[in-house]
Amino acid sequence: MGMAMFAAGIRPRSAAPVPAKPAPPENAQGRANGPDTALAQWYPSPSFGPRRGDGKISVIVIHYTAMDSAEAALERLCDPAVEVSAHYLIGSDGRIWQMVRDQERAWHAGLGEWAGEGDVNSRSIGIELDNRGDHPFSAAQMDRLEALLRDLMARHDLGPSAVIGHSDMAPERKCDPGRRFDWARLARQGLALWPAPISPPEAAAIDPELFAANLRAFGYPKAPPEILLDAMRQRFRPWASGPLTPKDMALARALAQLAVDPDAQSA
Ligand SMILES: [Zn+2]
Repeated sequence: MGMAMFAAGIRPRSAAPVPAKPAPPENAQGRANGPDTALAQWYPSPSFGPRRGDGKISVIVIHYTAMDSAEAALERLCDPAVEVSAHYLIGSDGRIWQMVRDQERAWHAGLGEWAGEGDVNSRSIGIELDNRGDHPFSAAQMDRLEALLRDLMARHDLGPSAVIGHSDMAPERKCDPGRRFDWARLARQGLALWPAPISPPEAAAIDPELFAANLRAFGYPKAPPEILLDAMRQRFRPWASGPLTPKDMALARALAQLAVDPDAQSA
């Protein structure tokens, strides 16, 4: 998610336990209902369909909910009228719910592309983090996200390049998981990519077209350079602002290098 869903006021978080939902033994695709991992409790959403194409999972997309509570997000992600869903939701307290089986196509990514391919929903797993978007992610939530990523990457044979943010694949529409999400922490554990330390810019010329081309080589979709600059900084230089700098140019070049040689990463 990560759209403009802010309530006018902040409602108190409900501490009420979320009861397991009764579910038929099979889903609409005739496949067994139930979680894919012991890390999650099953809370089925009706909002999913079959994956298109070869059905192979190659991407994990991280989101924040921009909602007041995990309970409110669960309600929305399971509301057939809203037609959005994700495979997993992680509460700020670390609880994990699975709403859509891994093999099904959840409706979390929307329009966008990554590594030159659209229909990201058909080849991705979506993970929503219970976070309003204006505060840090809790340690308990990050710990459980890391456990879930390890589990998913092992089960689907994915490397750190598979893990991206919603803002990476839809930079013109989305800003989640946002500047407070700790990508370096994931990368230190092999759960995301991080570029090698950027050597001091050797008076790198400011070239917006080269900058955009390097980001496209990393996987970003086609978008105006200023949009790509903001998307890249959200993930790799969250403290930076203002126009394109030599450091941004050098970072984009390092990211392009990472796409060619994933061993070039630091962390
Ligand atoms: Zn999102």
